[in-house]
Parts: sequence; C-alpha cells; structure tokens
Amino acid sequence: VKDLQKHFRITNPLGKVTGHVKAVNHVTFDLFEKETLGLVGESGCGKSTTGRTILRLTEPTSGTALYKGQDIFSLKEKEFMPVRKEMQMIFQDPHSSLNPKKRIGFSIEEPMKIQGIGTKTERTDKAMDLLHKVGLRKDQYDRYPHEFSGGQRQRIGLARALAVTPKIIICDEPVSALDVSIQSQVMNLLQELQEEFGQAYLFIAHDLSVVRHISDRIGVMYLGNIVELAPTDQLFQNPLHPYTQALLSAIPIPNPRRKRERIVMKGDVPSPANLPSGCVFHTRCPYVMDRCKSEVPTTIQGANGHQVACHLHM
Ligand code: SF4
Ligand code: MG
Repeated sequence: VKDLQKHFRITNPLGKVTGHVKAVNHVTFDLFEKETLGLVGESGCGKSTTGRTILRLTEPTSGTALYKGQDIFSLKEKEFMPVRKEMQMIFQDPHSSLNPKKRIGFSIEEPMKIQGIGTKTERTDKAMDLLHKVGLRKDQYDRYPHEFSGGQRQRIGLARALAVTPKIIICDEPVSALDVSIQSQVMNLLQELQEEFGQAYLFIAHDLSVVRHISDRIGVMYLGNIVELAPTDQLFQNPLHPYTQALLSAIPIPNPRRKRERIVMKGDVPSPANLPSGCVFHTRCPYVMDRCKSEVPTTIQGANGHQVACHLHM
C-alpha cells in the first residue's frame, strides 16, 4: 500500500462542501505473505478506513495498492472480483457479516456461491468442515446467529471468511467486544488457522497488548498517519516515536519491581477535519520543538525495518 489517502467531504445542509475529514493520510506499508501486521491506534485514527479501502468497501481518494503486481485500486469492478476473493474481512461485530434471518450454514456458504466455487453439496461439506475447524460442531450448521455467543459468532465469521481460502484477512478489532478469556481463545484460533492455511492478517486493534502476541510487525497510527512501524519485539523494546512510547507506558507491567515512567499526553486527539500543521502529534507531544509545528517529519527507515516519522530521529 503506497501513499494511501482517504478524505471524506463535509457538506452543510445545503449540500455545499465545507471541508474534508482526512481519515487516512499518506499511509504506506507492506503486508507480506503469511505474516500478521498489527495496526494500532486510538479510535478515529484511520485504521479501519485503511482496511476497508484495501477491500474497496470504500474507494480511496488517492494512492496505490499493489497485489501480485497489479494496482487493485485501478481495477474495474469485474477485474477486482477474483482479487476480492483472496481478501476477506472479519469485523468487531460479526452481526455485520451474518444475516440474522439465515442459518449460519447459509452464511458460510454464501461467499463460495457468489464466487462460483463448487456444487451445493461441496459447499455444504466445506461449510461443515470449516465449522469443525473453528471449534464448532457440524450439527450447528442449521442454527441461527442468535443461538450463539459473541465468541462463537466470531468463530462463524471466521469460517465464512475462510470459505474462499483467502490470502489476506483484514481483522477489524475482531476481539474488542469479547470478554478477555474469550479474546485469547479467538486469538489462538486465528493463529492456528494461519498455520494451517497460511493467510496473512492485517490485524486492527486499539490496544497494543492485544496485537502483541499475534503480530510479526506492528504499525502505530495517529490521525491518519503511520507514525512508527517495526517488528513487534523491537517496537516493545525500543519504541522510537513519542506516541508509541506513551501508548506503551500506559500498559501495566506485571512485575512491580520493574518501573516504567508513565508518559502523559497533553489534551485530546484533534479532529481529523482540522489536522495540526507540521507533525500531527505536536499538540500532544511531551517533546515538541519549534520545527515540529511547521515541518512534517519524513519517515526514516532504520535498521531491521524499523521506521519512524519524528524530528527527534532525523
Ligand atoms: Fe513530537 Fe516533534 Fe516528534 Fe512530532 S516530530 S512526535 S511533535 S518530537
Ligand atoms: Mg474502527
């Protein structure tokens, strides 16, 4: 994904454009085969929009997304269909992908039907097989979504996503609404299924501790920008961006003898309709310098793929 931008128009009641919400600004990253890239940031930072744009659930304002050498943003709808099959999404609320009036077997088979995969019998066999793979029973095929718990519905959503054997699954906060004990079960399942089927995950979360154990690399987003991106261990051991440092300092350390200084951010997140000049983090940064208010920091590529956009590191 290169230089992705997604701006939404703001209109007044007369329909006149009065401004733009810059939800995603110049976002650039790679997602490698079979890897998990965590994308973390507070709500409204543009992480969901980034995911949705890649699947073209919303059209980008500008930028490119190369998949197997072709820019998927420039494909016509018909050309995009076979690519779309290789990219699926699971959501925070599985209700958005499960039709409450349909038996879950139907919902799992539906993507295969749309893509013209297999006969009806083959699709049913595959759906039952997938139910088993995600830890449910084959005889639950005929049940309705409301008969399942939140964690089970997330498993069904995952079975539905896997039905077309995607290469990429965009996971948009799939465990945020679940109890902590259920969260780890679903996370473990995601990892097991990745080992079995080899799909890559773009894993969106608002909490660094959620993505820590599943991600090979983590990108930290703030107001539509990826401010830091690094292999997971490196990000936790040596966070370079003040925003990442602040997020990490808010995570409690289990060992009380190890102390981590709490870095307190000033104020609230500014509106994406009125972005701060220069570094977008400058209104809240404890280390802000004069130049931060006028100069946009460029992204520096450090050792081992550790990248950061901050004037302290230039
Ligand atoms: Fe803070 Fe300046 Fe770095 Fe932005 S560029 S994070 S304001 S030090
Ligand atoms: Mg979101």
